[in-house]
Amino acid sequence: MSLPNGRTAHENDNASEVTARFSGTTKGIHGGRREAKLKRECDICIVGAGIVGMVAALLLRKQGILVHIYERQASVYPLPRAVALADDSIRLLLAAGLGVEVQRHVLKHHSQEDFIWRDKQQNPLVRLNMAQPGPTGLPNASLFSQPNLEAAIALYCEHAGVPIYRGWEFQDAVQEVDGRMTIFFTRYKTEKQICYNAGVQVHSNFLVAADGANSSVREHFGIDREDYGLRSDWLILDTLPSKTAGSDWPWSQICDPERPTTVIGGGGDRHRWEFMRLPHETTSELTSHKNVWASLAPYGLDETNCEIERAVVYTFRSLNARTYSTARNSVFLIGDSAHQMPPFIGQGLNSGIRDAGALAWRLIAHLRGCQSTDLLASYTVERRHHVEQMIKKAIELGQPICETDAGISEKMVRSNEEGL
Ligand SMILES: Cc1cc2nc3c(=O)[nH]c(=O)nc-3n(C[C@H](O)[C@H](O)[C@H](O)COP(=O)(O)OP(=O)(O)OC[C@H]3O[C@@H](n4cnc5c(N)ncnc54)[C@H](O)[C@@H]3O)c2cc1C
Repeated sequence: MSLPNGRTAHENDNASEVTARFSGTTKGIHGGRREAKLKRECDICIVGAGIVGMVAALLLRKQGILVHIYERQASVYPLPRAVALADDSIRLLLAAGLGVEVQRHVLKHHSQEDFIWRDKQQNPLVRLNMAQPGPTGLPNASLFSQPNLEAAIALYCEHAGVPIYRGWEFQDAVQEVDGRMTIFFTRYKTEKQICYNAGVQVHSNFLVAADGANSSVREHFGIDREDYGLRSDWLILDTLPSKTAGSDWPWSQICDPERPTTVIGGGGDRHRWEFMRLPHETTSELTSHKNVWASLAPYGLDETNCEIERAVVYTFRSLNARTYSTARNSVFLIGDSAHQMPPFIGQGLNSGIRDAGALAWRLIAHLRGCQSTDLLASYTVERRHHVEQMIKKAIELGQPICETDAGISEKMVRSNEEGL
């Protein structure tokens, strides 16, 4: 499938390509002291200006902490990814000062209230009411467009005094004898650019890795991830159907062994379809022009009434970092840098936002003088366990959805039905 923006059809491969580590002539600081001409100071240095990194920065900034964000991309990633925010995540966005952004981009009236799990014949199995207030009083789940919200948060960072230095890629970091971190960034080099080895050197009390699933910071500090075993490829179609095409597709998780499918809103007028790759299919077959439109045809969509914004295969994975901080609690992982989970219960980005909240108050307390090492060490204890529960729940609930053996699927689906 050729996309208007020329992106490859398999996002995970694409992501790992661009994460290729810097291999220039500059010596690593372990192999000889290197000085960059451009030097900056801050309290906390965050790598990655995704939603998670920016929310952490804003929570810290609200308490007067000087935070810098370094981001390798020149602008916000333009394509949809995560689509659901839980009520407690929204509370954290509000605490970060993002009331206007939440009101404009998240808390909108949805055309549908329920997300229903169905069997192959479309009989309802489980009904999740998304609009129902969760424990915080806000809707259980609100749908949104990630690029729109991300762009709005980035703009707010400017007003809130959180500089985002774009075009800089994490290279390496070291802890100084006084306990502070020295972090090096190099100019992010795309294929067409020439890299002159320009660098910036940042001195900071802490380093926070919010640099996504292929985190270079996590790799640099050798933090391993536990793999819970689920790995499956899904064709993700983010669409903008025209008004004439309608908008009445019931939001559903369809447990059909012949083609496990998800239908969900994507924030605003967007609709998302997700189709699991079957064992005999290749990724390129799945993303072919013919297959993409054939998959949407049962829903009345074709090239005359629907625009496809994103048609890619995204691999659902179940990974959790073995620790969320280094031994001396000077480097922390948040968001996808720490974990990845299948989206069956929509908890991936939400877990990242919870990490941001759980880390921010600890760093604030530490910088204000509450310097027990237990406090910082308890970040991993709190978050890793919770994320593990989320990953296991997502795998458990994902099993009947992903099952391609009709007999087993039938049994799983029926046992879920009895559990209602
Ligand atoms: C390509 C892609 C597709 C996805 N599709 C879905 C989906 O369909 N459904 C779903 O539920 N979730 C999806 N997700 C996951 C969801 O978007 C994430 O859970 C969420 O974005 C996590 O936010 P984050 O801030 O932790 O990481 P990210 O949003 O990945 O942000 C990380 C940021 O760090 C920057 N960065 C990376 N490396 C460096 C470096 N070395 N130096 C400086 N900056 C760096 C990146 O450019 C990026 O801006 C997808 C994620 C990706 C990357």
